[in-house]
Amino acid sequence: MSENKGKLAIYWAASCGGCEISILALNEKILDVTAAFDIVFCPCIMDTKARDIEKIPDKGIDVCLFNGSIRTSEQEYMARLLRQKSKVLVAFGSCAHEGCIPGLANVSNRDEIFETCYLDGPSTDNPAGTLPQPEVQVNGCHLTLPVFYDTVRTLGQTVEVDYYLPGCPPEAARIWDALVAILEGKLPPAGSVIGAETTVCDECKRTREEKRIKEFKRTWQIIPDAEKCLLEQGLLCCGLATRAGCGALCPQVNSPCIGCYGPNAGVEDFGCRMMTALASVIDSTDPDEIERIIEEGIPDPVGTFYRFSLAHSLLRRSALVPDIQRHELPLPGAGAERSS
Ligand code: SF4
Ligand code: SF4
Repeated sequence: MSENKGKLAIYWAASCGGCEISILALNEKILDVTAAFDIVFCPCIMDTKARDIEKIPDKGIDVCLFNGSIRTSEQEYMARLLRQKSKVLVAFGSCAHEGCIPGLANVSNRDEIFETCYLDGPSTDNPAGTLPQPEVQVNGCHLTLPVFYDTVRTLGQTVEVDYYLPGCPPEAARIWDALVAILEGKLPPAGSVIGAETTVCDECKRTREEKRIKEFKRTWQIIPDAEKCLLEQGLLCCGLATRAGCGALCPQVNSPCIGCYGPNAGVEDFGCRMMTALASVIDSTDPDEIERIIEEGIPDPVGTFYRFSLAHSLLRRSALVPDIQRHELPLPGAGAERSS
């Protein structure tokens, strides 16, 4: 460890590990990262434990890239611990920023998830109906597991976050931009999303004419024209509601944007923005026809409009009946991000 280097922590909570892969995609620039920072904590690549972080003085970590949403008591503990120990806490990637795919489980509650995973799965063999317990005695030993909450929360709904770096995962070039901005002290105001304010449509090179949609098509139903706007061809491309930053990667390869960078600046709820945008391009005034176009073309509205942002949305989750609220994470003292 060098006295002159900054200290960097990288943590994963409820996430897939793609954000760590994206750090590796910095390629040779990773050497510049290690020249500037000592990595003091990164469970993905180093055998470091929570107790190592507990020993670090408060604010002894310069930057923490925290990816993953908050699903369990252990993840909540690590979020609070890393907040306490870090000068700059970055919600790194879509799961920490908006809940992302883990947040889609907010259409269910803990009991329903446990039923599907441990009791009803087609490959499950669990005749005793054993479910994970937070505490259990085995041969005189007291064993514990983290508590599994009913609701997935974003990092910003759990602790105060300094910056948000969107994307599933964030593009390596954007990670580099953020690290350079941190090193050079050129960060936007605290609470900002680091990145562009415009939309993926602004980065997309496809030609656009008038959008008038009679039918939404699934990606497997057509081979789209490689030059024309995908939405104008009936594919549900979310570029018009999604923050720029990736360079319109998906439309570049004939695939619609599914919104992984979250809403662009000034938009509070990604799904609402997408739904209002689509409402203005459906080419019908007949309520029955409009209903048919939507029902046939968008069979999974929650997965389509809130794939990355359900936990962060105005809806946040499906309603919980009172008797299962015992698994809920206590209400946060949270901050929501400001638009950059
Ligand atoms: S809707 Fe999609 S395909 Fe059309 S311009 Fe925007 S990003 Fe490109
Ligand atoms: S085009 Fe959309 S879904 Fe694809 S990487 Fe960019 S923001 Fe994510």
